[in-house]
Amino acid sequence: MTAAVGPGVRVGLDIGGTKVEGVALAGDGTVLARERTPTPHRPAELLTAVADLVGRLAGSAAVRGVGVGVPGIVDPGTGTLVDAVNLGLDEGPFALGPLLAQRLGGVPVVVENDVNVSALGAGALLGADDLALLSLGTGLAAGVLLDGVLRRGASGAGGEVGHVSFDPDGLLCGCGQRGCLETLAAGRALTRRWPGRPGDAPDALWTAAAAGDPAAIAVRDSWADAVATAVRVLVLTVDPRLVVLGGGVSAVGEPLRAAVADALQRAAAPSPFLRGLAVHERLALVPAGAPVAAIGAADLLAA
Ligand SMILES: [Zn+2]
Repeated sequence: MTAAVGPGVRVGLDIGGTKVEGVALAGDGTVLARERTPTPHRPAELLTAVADLVGRLAGSAAVRGVGVGVPGIVDPGTGTLVDAVNLGLDEGPFALGPLLAQRLGGVPVVVENDVNVSALGAGALLGADDLALLSLGTGLAAGVLLDGVLRRGASGAGGEVGHVSFDPDGLLCGCGQRGCLETLAAGRALTRRWPGRPGDAPDALWTAAAAGDPAAIAVRDSWADAVATAVRVLVLTVDPRLVVLGGGVSAVGEPLRAAVADALQRAAAPSPFLRGLAVHERLALVPAGAPVAAIGAADLLAA
């Protein structure tokens, strides 16, 4: 849902398990301020930290509204996070939207899933309104933006391609199935197979593969094959104009996009049908380092 808001800045927040990233946007979408703060793991402290961040981002400007992206299942109608465990809070529902609105003196607050706001942010940054944002992070999920409208689905599961079971003999997934695409194509699947040093695993893998290390090439290409399968599922379901690769691993940049594009072309080679869809030509990246989810969260509020 979007909220009707008055004059002033729009604030967007991407609240993750370790940090909160925030932006303040002018009416035309210009980023006026950007700041990060650690995520406290007690509800009252989280609300205080977030309210303080909103105040710093807005400065002397009035706040027209606050959009928030959070991990997990959200009821956008009530602004409630169905299970706050992904924020390091106790299990169970957390009425983030109403509580934050109260803290901010009645400013409108809209809450949405973080992958969905990333899809909105990718649309804003790329000037596109028809895309799927495939988040390659701890998990694997997509936000689907069709003709400028988020497709959440009848039960909020739209874009959950990570739980397409792909290998019945594969690893047990957190969802209870075996061999889900998430166990093969999430960022975590990559770091499990190529651990590297903390924080540098994806870059280290691409560097080793580029240097000709056969083991690195095998890990890179089989991971890219699994990501390509997720991309094909999205294209064959909703046929978006773009599939944007996002999430932590996408920081590798163009070499990652190229590996997935190559995997798509390998799979399409024997199929005139797939070749005709030119799926590899639809792959895109969000600009490196851009606060895509926070910008998308601000865009939950009508400009
Ligand atoms: Zn699963």
